[in-house]
Amino acid sequence: MKLDDVRVHVLAIPLREPVQFSWEPFPRPVYVFSIVEVESGGHMGYSAIEFGAAYKQFLETTVKMVVQGLNMEIEEIDPRLLEIGSWAIQRLGALEVAIWDLVAKREGLPLYKLLGGSRRRVKVYASTGRLLSAEETLELVEKYAEMGINVVKLRFRREKIEDDLEVLKAVVRDFPDLRLAVDANQAWSYTPPYWSRKQALKVARELEKYDVLWLEEPLWKDDIEGYRWLRENTGIEIAGGELEHGLQRFRMLIENGAFDIVQADSVYSNGIAECRKIAALAEAFELKFMPHAWDPGLGWLANLHLAASLPEKLCPYIETPLDPLWWSDVNVWGSEWKC
Ligand SMILES: [Mg+2]
Repeated sequence: MKLDDVRVHVLAIPLREPVQFSWEPFPRPVYVFSIVEVESGGHMGYSAIEFGAAYKQFLETTVKMVVQGLNMEIEEIDPRLLEIGSWAIQRLGALEVAIWDLVAKREGLPLYKLLGGSRRRVKVYASTGRLLSAEETLELVEKYAEMGINVVKLRFRREKIEDDLEVLKAVVRDFPDLRLAVDANQAWSYTPPYWSRKQALKVARELEKYDVLWLEEPLWKDDIEGYRWLRENTGIEIAGGELEHGLQRFRMLIENGAFDIVQADSVYSNGIAECRKIAALAEAFELKFMPHAWDPGLGWLANLHLAASLPEKLCPYIETPLDPLWWSDVNVWGSEWKC
């Protein structure tokens, strides 16, 4: 199969209110993202990723010129070809996902079935994004409970760890049947607080008391020894890898004992084929694989198909961004799109 065209549509949706996520030092008034469109033999495929004009420029010039004329049969795409995304400090997972979408449409099958999956349902966990007060968090969790969601991930990045723990304790007190996870967003954080290994261990030990399901990204992404040390010193499962890419990088992380839960994302890595190999590697090491899936709309959908193609034991949940509650709808039903 050859690609006849690669097009990228950059969209900017004004948000209902400015949103400040825990991992960003500024509020966002607008959500900017790209829809990736591929065409081959009259068939179209789509995906989306949270990158803007630079992504469009890179895909419609360098990438398009490189891939046109090459064999792009989906399972035969060489990882070295997808790695050219790293030249621009960006990934080509969204391009690879769009090709999967095209192939699935051409074959007349939902993608997860094309991949051999048979799951009709994948459990979601509600992923918060903001550092809200205890009262605001309780209001949000109440909404999740009304939606039938019984696993919620809280963010821990306040100046004082005690303040993070206060929010967690309030949720445990008011929702004793809920299961909680905690995301510290330390792996790629570009502003403080930066946790030390001892701070991460202190948090992990606290979380043990509340039977928290996992602690996500408690340390800088390259402190692989720290991740292993933490796993050896706490009963809490340690998760990570959401912005990593490359099968060999994941192999190194897994072989070095960094994670209990591997969280590759199909649009931020080099795509679905790579993620399925990473998932198989996780399975061989008796770990879990649960894709990161914060991009709303098509990015989330790609990761849902990835999750549905895997056994539930290996991939029990799909992350679902629900903070603000309307975040999941942002790039699907935005009413004021501007190209
Ligand atoms: Mg995360």
